[in-house]
Amino acid sequence: MKKLRNLVGGAWQDSRCDEWLDLVNPATEDVIARFPAGSPSDVDDAVAAAATAQTEWAALPVAERVARIHAWADLIADNADELAELERQEMGKPAGIGRAFIDSAVAGLKAAAQQANSYPFEDTVAHPDGAKTRILRTPLGATAVITPWNFPVAMVLGALGPLLAAGNTVVVKPSERSPYSTARLVELLSLPAGVVNLVLGDARAGVPLAEHEQIQLVHFTGSVSAGRKVGAAAGERLRRTVLELGGKDPVVIDADVDPVATAKAVAFGAFVNTGQICTSMERIFVHRDIAVPFVEALVAEAGNYPSGSALGPLVDARQRNVVHGHVEDAVARGACLRTGGSVPKGSGFFYPATVLTDVDDSMLIMNEETFGPVAPVAVVCSFEEGLERAARSRYGLAATVYTGDAAHADAAARIPAGVVWVNQWQGGGPERLYEPAGDSGLGATGAQAAYDAATRPASVHIAAPVLP
Ligand code: NAD
Repeated sequence: MKKLRNLVGGAWQDSRCDEWLDLVNPATEDVIARFPAGSPSDVDDAVAAAATAQTEWAALPVAERVARIHAWADLIADNADELAELERQEMGKPAGIGRAFIDSAVAGLKAAAQQANSYPFEDTVAHPDGAKTRILRTPLGATAVITPWNFPVAMVLGALGPLLAAGNTVVVKPSERSPYSTARLVELLSLPAGVVNLVLGDARAGVPLAEHEQIQLVHFTGSVSAGRKVGAAAGERLRRTVLELGGKDPVVIDADVDPVATAKAVAFGAFVNTGQICTSMERIFVHRDIAVPFVEALVAEAGNYPSGSALGPLVDARQRNVVHGHVEDAVARGACLRTGGSVPKGSGFFYPATVLTDVDDSMLIMNEETFGPVAPVAVVCSFEEGLERAARSRYGLAATVYTGDAAHADAAARIPAGVVWVNQWQGGGPERLYEPAGDSGLGATGAQAAYDAATRPASVHIAAPVLP
């Protein structure tokens, strides 16, 4: 049985806690690895290593740091199939999908690191009286990256680029539900010892890491409830956080689009990765003029996501209970189950692609994050009504609008969300600058904002000297 260990200052180290957790393959329910539950002492060791390594790492020229990160990215790319296979074993993601997301995360890591070469780490403003102000943006020091289970490799890589390229060092704490691929990711490290460290475990590692006195920024991706605690702990210490939290993303479908092609796009947005994406389509508002053909096509599309191949299992029994609980609540309150909606027999935490209609905004399925392969459809009388109901949520991560009307496309921006996609789910490149709205997070990311978060600006004002 593989036993995972912590990476501290470039050396593999046994945990100082006695408790071990099992990593279970959600398709077979077999235990595939064991790893430590986590402890404050493990965190202390990893943070000390990160703090020690930071001075030398920050002293390297920016271009050198970027080149080192690119070299590591190339190694990851060379091993992408193996990482995708580990993700398949630990959280059920079909290997083809895992590979595609890892490829895009590697490209994202490279692009984000590359931005360091043009980031203004130092600016000088000249004044008419001969004085000048130097604006210096320096790295924060040792930082923490805490990740969820649904994209183990991509979530880590997504956070690391700007933090590392800006000259910070990092302690990574992956999810206790999928730590295996992250452990392999850091095994491939080609950066100097201590620049990236790994601490395994559940909240027993996450809490002391988020609360650690020497951690200058916590980049947290996960649930709203844990994000609140991380934010509160950071506030108490007056340290920074970037919080990327949950969502309940709406889709608004206008009367003038092709219902069949849109249903295909919506099925992908609702079912890919078994619905376990923070920006999965979780509330669908379709105009009444095309509702009938749209729903028919969506139900037919659900048949293209058979469990075991296109649709992996949910990550564990707890997650499946949440998903099924939302479906049962909706049906009990009058929703119509058009396909799916039952827990299959046999091993593995599978759940079928499910379509519900006649849903209303009082149901859990329209309010709480489901994180499963469920497409709940509400029919609206106008595009305006769709926009208005889409905006009615405590979450505000992303939203998607399908319309052929240019004025309606412009109006989509009224949905309060970090990103609004029009006619293409997940569109846009690294220039995408956003901050989640509502309970979906805190702190702008993307483009230059990630470097602003990873550095602290200070100004030095130099006036003309008073000479004798
Ligand atoms: P989670 O909040 O349970 O756990 C996330 C990580 O935080 C894990 O590593 C966990 O061990 C750690 N943790 C838990 N409690 C902690 C605490 N008090 N202090 C410090 N660390 C703590 O989330 P999850 O169930 O693993 O992931 C699913 C959630 O993540 C969903 O809500 C999803 O929407 C969200 N998510 C958001 C994004 C985004 O970019 N906004 C991306 C992916 C997933």
